[in-house]
Amino acid sequence: MNDALLDALRQQAGRDAAGADPVLGLLSQMLAQREQSLTRDLEARGQEEGHLEAEARAAQEARRLEDLRGLEEEQRQAARLARLERLRFRLETLEGGLATAQARLDDLALALGACPNCWGEDPECRLCRGRGQPGFLRPEAAAFRRLVVPALKAASRHPEPRAFAGEERPAPERTTL
Ligand SMILES: [Zn+2]
Repeated sequence: MNDALLDALRQQAGRDAAGADPVLGLLSQMLAQREQSLTRDLEARGQEEGHLEAEARAAQEARRLEDLRGLEEEQRQAARLARLERLRFRLETLEGGLATAQARLDDLALALGACPNCWGEDPECRLCRGRGQPGFLRPEAAAFRRLVVPALKAASRHPEPRAFAGEERPAPERTTL
């Protein structure tokens, strides 16, 4: 408490006729007010610190959540990449199988003199206009010898049909999507 304030208190006390020691009474009152004010300040500061701590905890929690989200996104991305890789491998396998099947069909069409595009089944076919069934063209000699002649020989040699794995017309293994 500064001197000016004390003087003011004394003057006030001088004017005050009541009380055994008005100066002390006023001082005690001032001190009590000051104590209340300090207590309020401390409480306010305590609340402020509490708020700051809560904010810090919230920020930390937010960072942790952000990290978790990042991790989750990385895992999703990795899973997507793995799925894409599997699909790419599958596609390459299918493309390989398709190329092999097409080459075999082209050979057979040559051996049978059929249209390699549609085998005579597509009136819109730019090669044969739907007329290219087997025998439409003269069979290509080499392919005919390789694919058809053995079949003709077998047809004359084996009156009883042979079987694949015990079945006359077995279901072939197919690659599916
Ligand atoms: Zn055709």
